[in-house]
Amino acid sequence: MVNANLSVRHNHSQKIIPEATKVAFQIAYLSSRNNPGINQSTPGEFKNSVLSQPWNQNQTRIHLLHRQPASSPFRTCPEGAFFAACRHSNQTMKSPICYLTLAALALTPLIQAATPMKALIIDGQNNHGMWPKTTVMMKKYLEESGLFTVDVKRTAYTWNGDDLIPKFPVKLDIETTALKKPKPDPDYAPDFSAYDLVLSNFGWNAAPWPEQTKKGLENFVSQGGGLVIVHAADNSFAEWDAYNRMIGLGGWGGRDESSGPYVYYDDHGHLVRDTSKGRGGSHGKQHEYLIEARDATHPIIKGLPKKWLHAKDELYDQLRGPAEKMHVLATAFADKSTGGSGRHEPILMTIQFGSGRVFHTPMGHADYSMECVGFITTLVRGSEWAATGKVSQTKVPADFPTATEVKKRKFD
Ligand code: ZN
Repeated sequence: MVNANLSVRHNHSQKIIPEATKVAFQIAYLSSRNNPGINQSTPGEFKNSVLSQPWNQNQTRIHLLHRQPASSPFRTCPEGAFFAACRHSNQTMKSPICYLTLAALALTPLIQAATPMKALIIDGQNNHGMWPKTTVMMKKYLEESGLFTVDVKRTAYTWNGDDLIPKFPVKLDIETTALKKPKPDPDYAPDFSAYDLVLSNFGWNAAPWPEQTKKGLENFVSQGGGLVIVHAADNSFAEWDAYNRMIGLGGWGGRDESSGPYVYYDDHGHLVRDTSKGRGGSHGKQHEYLIEARDATHPIIKGLPKKWLHAKDELYDQLRGPAEKMHVLATAFADKSTGGSGRHEPILMTIQFGSGRVFHTPMGHADYSMECVGFITTLVRGSEWAATGKVSQTKVPADFPTATEVKKRKFD
């Protein structure tokens, strides 16, 4: 991770900034917008400074937080080089030479395609036997976005999905052994720090990880890494305190009132934290259900329809957990007629854990659920947001579902 501060000042005697410098800054701004590895800590200020604010004002301040993509060594990141060059110019640039240098740097190889970030899908033990296929599906969705390259780290002992493992091969650095019941893999130790994003496709009853590996994920997220939790990944590791805080809400695995409150919306649109006694985690029969935005301003769902119909899936209800620094972006009504709780259940959430961001989607029971364009879109947006804190792919797909029609992309 690289922090680069760029502060540009010009005094009263220098009210006209060279035209080339304006171009340089605009290119820098556009580059940073198109590069998911760059976070603007104050995007509004930067945008106003560069594109909107009159250039003859006395002072223009630009502050950037550049999170160096894990996949991109500094030398191959032209935007990073640009900002570093600014920093090396002592952060205060009054000389026209500095401006010209900036312009030259910006106008040369800066306008290159952004380097994809690195994502890691972790899997191997899941009560959902479909998991080898859903890993490949999510890998494809993330890679097709152009935002990520995706590796997979699998436990040496796998549980379920035996028939699908050879049908949906992924590049692994180990030989795996399929077992009839979950078994801890003492050598499971992904290097999380080499990635921008970790996505868990573990599920209910996954065997505990080595302590050092648990600590590795905690450190990765708390120090600013992105984590995505999909469906039964919120069933895993009920005994792992930090994991429960990372996922916000979970189900099964013995979770109950000691795990934290139920969190849901009531019929009046109020968020409820219910500490009453009871099990954590349930679902009725699978069906198509309506997603309802609760914070349409959040980048992950901004611009999407206020309501859309999700493809056939399980609708998790009565999840419970610490729910610290958790934000519910959308809910789905778990109708009692389908065996649900009668509550508006959280269906898209974000959680802050230390400096890191977590995106949690309880959707995704099966391959047909993940073919939903709403699932794909929010998975990609949520993954980018978890990795960078922003969403660059704001265009709503033409085949996005409506409130009355499910839209799917067949996965072959
Ligand atoms: Zn399921």
